[in-house]
Amino acid sequence: MVDPEAKLLYDYDHLLSRLYSRLPTRTGKASRFELPRLQVERIGSKTIIRNFKQLADVMRREPRILMRYLLKELGASGNYDEENGMLVINVKVSITTLNNLMQRFVKTYVICPTCGAPDTRLERRGKAWVLICEACGAEQPVPPL
Ligand SMILES: [Zn+2]
Repeated sequence: MVDPEAKLLYDYDHLLSRLYSRLPTRTGKASRFELPRLQVERIGSKTIIRNFKQLADVMRREPRILMRYLLKELGASGNYDEENGMLVINVKVSITTLNNLMQRFVKTYVICPTCGAPDTRLERRGKAWVLICEACGAEQPVPPL
């Protein structure tokens, strides 16, 4: 007969090992952070990202901060349509370019370089910007936005 207490211990160990085996690895975590597909429309010489607010929400970033980054990188002007959650860029941009910029933003301003978690926030300290990880507590200076 199995001692019920021993059985309980075994179950606990078993559960624990199962839990650890399910913990994502460093790279796994980062690569599992997936952005929604960009909904891009081009009208004349303008490019519109229809689901811009949704993208910013997934990254947990202010749409205006993300906008500032994109416009600076593109060297273009544009404006954020708050009512519809869309970004209007006053230049023709390909989806590939936008995707690349989004990925770069995520890599620099969202993913924690120490543990790979996307649970971070940006804090402005004077002229400096710091990426703070809520998962591991690491702080990383990032280029100002
Ligand atoms: Zn971290």
